[in-house]
Amino acid sequence: MALTTTPPAAPANTLLHLTNVGKTYGRAAKRFQAVRGVNLQIQAGEFVCLLGPSGCGKSTLLRMITGLNPASEGEVLYRGRRLDGVNPYATIVFQTFALYPWLTVQENVEVALKARGVAPAERRRRAVQLLDTVGLDGFETAYPRELSGGMRQKAGFARALAVEPELLCLDEPFSALDVLSAEALRGELMELWLNKSLPTQAILMVTHNIEEAVLMADRIVVMGKDPGHVVTEMVVHLRQPRQRKDTAFQALVDKVYAAVAGQTEPEVEALGTAPGQPGATEKLPTARINALAGLMERLESDGGRADLYRLGGALRLELDDLLPIVEAAELLSFAQVAQGDISLTPLGQTFATASILARKEIAAGRLLRLPTIRWIYETLQKDDNQRVAEDYFLDHLRSEFGDYAATQLDIAINWARYAEIFAFDDDTDELYLEKEAVAVTRTAGA
Ligand code: ADP
Ligand code: MG
Repeated sequence: MALTTTPPAAPANTLLHLTNVGKTYGRAAKRFQAVRGVNLQIQAGEFVCLLGPSGCGKSTLLRMITGLNPASEGEVLYRGRRLDGVNPYATIVFQTFALYPWLTVQENVEVALKARGVAPAERRRRAVQLLDTVGLDGFETAYPRELSGGMRQKAGFARALAVEPELLCLDEPFSALDVLSAEALRGELMELWLNKSLPTQAILMVTHNIEEAVLMADRIVVMGKDPGHVVTEMVVHLRQPRQRKDTAFQALVDKVYAAVAGQTEPEVEALGTAPGQPGATEKLPTARINALAGLMERLESDGGRADLYRLGGALRLELDDLLPIVEAAELLSFAQVAQGDISLTPLGQTFATASILARKEIAAGRLLRLPTIRWIYETLQKDDNQRVAEDYFLDHLRSEFGDYAATQLDIAINWARYAEIFAFDDDTDELYLEKEAVAVTRTAGA
């Protein structure tokens, strides 16, 4: 029995209720359990992110929720009713949204309405309005091939929204886009969601990007694999719009990261206090960021793990030169060393395979945890012009590091410049703040 088209008056605002849901693919000897024992609820008004490594069953879960695939075990309730067949209250947007190439943008949106029996005039009106909402006005008569990746994804959103789904499911909707288009589209989606301009009551978004989840979600559900299961859930109390560089933001990213990696993060206290503050400051290893990136790439191509001694030989580095790079990788939680072997962490792996811009974002998140870098960043932030003489920092660093002060500042600048946190002005001998990263909520289409 399929769901009827009018939802029963729900006693609570619970839209989705999964109890002990599991999924097994294949049969007999080829049986494979992809997901097991998932309990999850989604209330109206919530933006929930499902986060976890590749292969942990995120897409499988979405397919069971939208009814594209049946669950093998447990119960999927939508508004208190057992789901059987396609869920008419939920739609899904995939990583790359399949638009019909022979239809215009507007026709692509209308298709969804036509399938629901909406009359032609009303179809046109709604399609035009939705395209306007997602910032595609003016492109109604364009064909998909004439659009950029970001615009095609927006057309996909418009088509998914056309049927006014109560529950909008997004499966890594930004991961096929370049970093800048992804950031712009995230901002636009958040703006529509926070303004309540979407005809939708809840969003369930799948991602493997920790920062994306912390940026957007009210609640983060962390999944692990073998078989896919829920590890933990975290409520995000940060106010919107959120800033990636905020301390509270980074602290939550760390916490989520630890849950994803299944390990406890080194305590921030272990990194010491800021220069000039009572207590020792952890010294930054004297490794240039390009060398660190090179090491990450090398490890990635070696399958994520290598013998340190042999690695030194392969990279033609003396141990004295290799060790600070390894130490930097550990400090940023990109790698772990045990018994002479170095292995990439999930974060290090992500870094190694990411685009340049994504790498900068990841690096910024990690670097701002380091007391010296955070101290410089915050000092610059407090300055009216966001510029402070190099000598000011050197004086404080000297009290902590003596003769190594200049090297420490040099490394801090090298790392921070890469991550676009702050940089050094040769003409004035000042450090200055790089432009703040794009705020999440920004004007649509701006
Ligand atoms: P995720 O979206 O988190 O990357 P998926 O839900 O796509 O994970 O896949 C979870 C696991 O189930 C993976 O090991 C995948 O290979 C397997 N899987 C997914 N779909 C099928 C299928 N149709 N048949 C067999 N195995 C599948
Ligand atoms: Mg997937």
